[in-house]
Amino acid sequence: MDPETIIAIFNVIFYVFVFLFGVTIGSFLNVCILRIPKGESLITNNSHCMSCNTEIKRYDLIPIISWCLLRGKCRACGAKISPRYTIVEALTGIMFVICFAVFPYDTYGIYFALLALFMSGLIVLAFQDLDTQEMCVSVLIYTGIMAILTHILTLIRIDGSQLVTMPATLKECLIGMVSVSGVMLIIGFVITPVFYILFISQDHKDLRRLSRALKNEKDAKETKKLTKKIEKVKTKIKNNGPVFGFGMGDIVVMAAGGLMLGIKATVFAAVIAVMTGAVYAVIRKATADEEDDSSNAFAFGPFLIIGLAIAAYVGNAAVDGYINTMIK
Ligand SMILES: [Zn+2]
Repeated sequence: MDPETIIAIFNVIFYVFVFLFGVTIGSFLNVCILRIPKGESLITNNSHCMSCNTEIKRYDLIPIISWCLLRGKCRACGAKISPRYTIVEALTGIMFVICFAVFPYDTYGIYFALLALFMSGLIVLAFQDLDTQEMCVSVLIYTGIMAILTHILTLIRIDGSQLVTMPATLKECLIGMVSVSGVMLIIGFVITPVFYILFISQDHKDLRRLSRALKNEKDAKETKKLTKKIEKVKTKIKNNGPVFGFGMGDIVVMAAGGLMLGIKATVFAAVIAVMTGAVYAVIRKATADEEDDSSNAFAFGPFLIIGLAIAAYVGNAAVDGYINTMIK
């Protein structure tokens, strides 16, 4: 065999190893997604079936493979196991491979590893937000710490070369930290309250009006109708709460993203988030039940995180390309 073939084979084996390592981390991320919001321990191994509560055997906990072998069903009771665990594992594996491929060690030092750990936090936040419409504070802090740690490690030099070289400068990262999150803060705390007074407060007025009507209503049929209407307005109010603004989690995640990736990537991420979020909102509205008012509400965090994930790899190049085309 010629040396080039050997190097190619070695590369493939190495990438497979990186993928499998990522998959293992993904398996741990699944545990984080499920247990952190409930305040359960991450270390004790007590994975159990969601339907029959049977403890899952160690040999049935092999990432991706076990799920495929069991054809997505619990060994004990045959209940369907969500493909999401496998999706999270595969996603993390692919993410690790991309980090490794886009930021080679020769140029960026161990940046690929720090970025992969940072992105792991984002994966947990995205799925937590999908499940609970909230991001856990501890995971938000983790992503912030990873970004700060990465900057600190750039100061370390081994044999004259940096341990970590970031694709953005410290200045770009500091501006990135406040740029998008600052705009979101203004939207969240200035524009949203105004919006609330103009539009959402109408629902509260409706609720009071309907409640008064219900008190005075004697007819059984009408009472039933009114109760139904009240329930509807109540769900609307409940769902509207965080919809028109950003959660604090969204703002923190964009600040941490900015500190890790820099201004260009963060702005790019925001653009992607708004575009994908808008497409999703339209699809959701179009396919939703006409009766269902809750179709207005959805978590925006996952879209910000999708934006950051894409921006981490292509954001700088895309923004540079865009600016160059515009100037020409
Ligand atoms: Zn079961």
